[in-house]
Amino acid sequence: MSNPFSSLSISDASYAFVLECEKKLAPYFAQINEVEETNQSRVLAAFGSEGVAARHFAQTNGYGYDDIGRDTLDRVFARALCAEDAIVRPNFVSGTHAIFTALAGLMKAGDTMLAASGKPYDTLERAIGIVGDEYGSLKNLGVNYKQIELDKNGKIDVEAVINSMNDSVKVVYVQRSRGYAWRDSILPQEMERLFMEVHKNYPDAITVVDNCYGEFTTPAEPTVFGADVIIGSLIKNPGGGIAPTGGYIAGKKQFIEQIANRLTVPGMGREVGSYAASYEPFFHGLFMAPHTTAQALKSAMLFGCVFETIGMETMPRLGAVRSDIVQSVKMGGPVPLVALCQAIQRVSPIDSNVVPEPWDMPGYNTQVIMAAGAFVQGSSIELSADAPICEPYIVYIQGALTYVHGKIGVMAALDEMVRKKEIRL
Ligand SMILES: *Cc1c(COP(=O)(O)O)cnc(C)c1O
Repeated sequence: MSNPFSSLSISDASYAFVLECEKKLAPYFAQINEVEETNQSRVLAAFGSEGVAARHFAQTNGYGYDDIGRDTLDRVFARALCAEDAIVRPNFVSGTHAIFTALAGLMKAGDTMLAASGKPYDTLERAIGIVGDEYGSLKNLGVNYKQIELDKNGKIDVEAVINSMNDSVKVVYVQRSRGYAWRDSILPQEMERLFMEVHKNYPDAITVVDNCYGEFTTPAEPTVFGADVIIGSLIKNPGGGIAPTGGYIAGKKQFIEQIANRLTVPGMGREVGSYAASYEPFFHGLFMAPHTTAQALKSAMLFGCVFETIGMETMPRLGAVRSDIVQSVKMGGPVPLVALCQAIQRVSPIDSNVVPEPWDMPGYNTQVIMAAGAFVQGSSIELSADAPICEPYIVYIQGALTYVHGKIGVMAALDEMVRKKEIRL
């Protein structure tokens, strides 16, 4: 057994160790392949139905009236995400921007947003006004907020959500991914009972899902299970590692129209908006997305399996059904955690000569370390790892455009942990 990774100074011991772990993964990889096949077929059917052609890649400028690239991209995404309609825009600066635009487009003063899966992703705290009262936040605009925690099994507490509702609740919000919390992701079908009860008891309430990190990890999206609106970032799963920036909002036509007014201007909505570069990377990225997501899922599973085998606590565990691409691991201390992040950086295609260190990142109470040597800055469909430097030293690993890159990452991490005398293989 010769070690094909020696040009990257991966040790024979790590190579052999990871090969052993990999043997356990075959049945799970077969399941991921099936999900990829379902999703690739739906994406390709979407391209076919909309007759995507080279003219849809063309750049536009100015107001962008009759921009067929933009309009076609919207419709292809809608079909790919099992939705009636979608807005896909390069000028969503991030997932948070797309989520905020959707929420602000759906609610007005006096309405209430109810988070049904506990506290939303960190970057939304100030946008919603859970923290602070910044000008322009939902709170500042007069929108009320309340949240219901997940139950002790990490599932949506449907009864508690329904019991806490009244007619002022306009948006019931679910975050599909674990994000940066020690909890499981929520499967689209697990949202179904909540959405049914909400629609039955409060027909005017709108069900909204933060779908970031979740797209194409399962055979169907939350829209199939009663989500009115789903939202995500194009530098994660649905951009396929190719889209350079942007976000999407997909769902029921009437709500997409409403959100379009917030995105641009009432009276113009989605009829305007040009893009002076080509739309090709967005189409290309969506085409690649089911495969790229499958690669990221396999990589996450390998990281989980390897760290589980050396005795660390992992989430999700081997064999769990996944609804996002994130693998969390309790590293047990700051030294192995930093070692892992530095090793991942070392084997990244970009900035491999940079050594990441913990730093005081704005908006965080503890130091944070991040490994990201990505083609697209901040892209986490590419192999990346981040961790707050605090008990219990959890690292969140996501991405890998190719499974082999993820495999190299985990072997490099083992080597670095051995070098720091944290483990022995
Ligand atoms: C990435 C992400 C977001 C949006 O984050 P951005 O960095 O603004 O794109 C929101 N929710 C979850 C769960 C995410 O993973």
